[in-house]
Amino acid sequence: MNAAIANPLQRPRATLSLDLDNLWCYQRSFGLETWRSYPSFLEIAVPRILDFLDRLNLKVTFFVIGRDASDPANLGLLSEIVVRGHEVGNHSFDHELALHLQSREEIEDEIRRAADAIETVTGQRPRGFRGPAFGLSQDLLEVLAGLGYDYDASTCPNSLGLLARLWHRSKASKIGSDEKVVGGLYGSLKDTGQSLRPYLWSLKDGALMEVPVTTLPILRLPFHGTYLNYLADFSPALARGYFMTALRLCKLRAVPPSFLLHASDFLGGDDSVPLTYLPGMKRSAEEKNQFMAETLQAYSRMFEVTPIGTFADELKQQQALPSFLPALGA
Ligand SMILES: [Zn+2]
Repeated sequence: MNAAIANPLQRPRATLSLDLDNLWCYQRSFGLETWRSYPSFLEIAVPRILDFLDRLNLKVTFFVIGRDASDPANLGLLSEIVVRGHEVGNHSFDHELALHLQSREEIEDEIRRAADAIETVTGQRPRGFRGPAFGLSQDLLEVLAGLGYDYDASTCPNSLGLLARLWHRSKASKIGSDEKVVGGLYGSLKDTGQSLRPYLWSLKDGALMEVPVTTLPILRLPFHGTYLNYLADFSPALARGYFMTALRLCKLRAVPPSFLLHASDFLGGDDSVPLTYLPGMKRSAEEKNQFMAETLQAYSRMFEVTPIGTFADELKQQQALPSFLPALGA
């Protein structure tokens, strides 16, 4: 068992990260041609999220997309993330959902270009990576290890991956797209059995730490921010009860939760952002932000919450993690 988790003198650890998927990423993943002009909501979302995190005194890992970092219009917005004390991670250059199915050379180019753009804007070189839509391959892991990354955070052992793909397909067809849904989007059944605790991928030229996005222990049901918003559309009390159950189960099973947010979790139907097909977009921004504040206050009451990089540093110093050979689903 992990010493950082088991030491009774320390509060149990948890991490918080936010994928900065932009408006064009959603349009692209749902097959809407409007994505090609790269419409953005970052100017609404980033200042709001940074103020929100300051109020809650939380530091997180922002997984930034290289394409947005390379747009001069985003310079001030993205540099502010590091100025306010957060970590920046690499979320690929183009948020291509099938990145993990590309050749090793293409993957390396995508990751390098994103890191260069993010470093240029923020002054911080990412040392963690999260693939678009939880995609992972052996080539991707080896590229990350070869580039000296400290951790990957792309796995999400989620038993509802197939249902989520069906949901995505039905939403896409309702908004007029015939886009194929990428295999493995939202996680594959094969990945469901992967560990929820951090571990090492054993690779040809070394090892790479994996910090999985946490799903409910045993049942492997998702509990990231967008899923909680989906439940909160039915009942905020139900969503809160589900989240608290998930956290208690994590504590019982000595799983340090890695809770995942998206920028869209902080946007509401009154923000004039055309995202009505996403969960939670019928509620107002204020309602959603209040819900997220209560959720994250509960999270930081139960756990010592840090960015993923800080937690990865602690794990490296404190103990040997179990290691696994990659056997990845597609
Ligand atoms: Zn993403």
